[in-house]
Amino acid sequence: MIKFEKVDKVYKNGYKALTDINLEIKEGEFVAIIGRSGAGKSTLIRTINKMIDINSGSLLVEGVDVSKLTGKKLRKFRRNIGMIFQQFNLVNRMSVINNVLAGFVPDLNIFQSTLGLYPKKYKLKALEALQEVDILEQAYSRADQLSGGQKQRVALARTIAQDPKIILADEPTASLDPVTSRQVMEYLKKINKENNIAILLNIHEIDLGLEYAERCIGIKDGIVVYDGPSSEVNSEV
Ligand code: ADP
Ligand code: ADP
Repeated sequence: MIKFEKVDKVYKNGYKALTDINLEIKEGEFVAIIGRSGAGKSTLIRTINKMIDINSGSLLVEGVDVSKLTGKKLRKFRRNIGMIFQQFNLVNRMSVINNVLAGFVPDLNIFQSTLGLYPKKYKLKALEALQEVDILEQAYSRADQLSGGQKQRVALARTIAQDPKIILADEPTASLDPVTSRQVMEYLKKINKENNIAILLNIHEIDLGLEYAERCIGIKDGIVVYDGPSSEVNSEV
């Protein structure tokens, strides 16, 4: 479903963040990308939805050459890819349900979305997504009234409602305490299994990544140093 071939990324300042990346991710996989801060995890994950451009090699997502996507085609492509961030990226002054709706409902103008004038079928879908991550009762709270763990669950609901094939989760637990981190990992696992959505997870808490993901990709200084079952990760990673 995702295929990297000889991919390099060099930032404009000359820094080589990724070197000769060769990877294949299959449908429905749960993959943890582990490595120290600065290893290139975030760069790697962000090339997949073209938040970051690659410099050479080829990157195919469902047969589509990502480097060729622009404008309308790129926006459409991104709708099939969910993204979860360390800082949740919710609109704080908006209600929970409107945060979810804003993430997947196409073609509403700014006034309609501000007033919450969403068609019923979309509202139903947003509420269903919130229920999947057990946060339905907060649907009409303002996003900034929630705890960190609750915010991340809303962000998860927002991506589920997109019906993506892939979720890119960039350090989703990095600003959460250990107990809440586990809870978010449980929901990621549930979404992976029940919705058959592939998950690519960046995580610097190595043990947590290994516990939940079946496959692990170790990255060090922009190079893949391990790719295999999480249960067999060696000390090199
Ligand atoms: P690209 O090559 O992908 O276009 P740029 O070199 O234009 O990337 O940088 C994108 C942004 O990242 C800029 O705002 C830049 O200031 C910021 N940036 C630069 N160096 C670093 C760094 N070492 N770590 C994180 N961000 C950086
Ligand atoms: P990780 O997610 O593993 O912490 P990153 O992918 O964020 O690593 O960063 C990899 C390396 O690339 C780091 O050394 C970082 O400073 C550098 N880097 C990230 N963004 C930029 C940028 N826009 N310009 C230059 N260097 C960058």
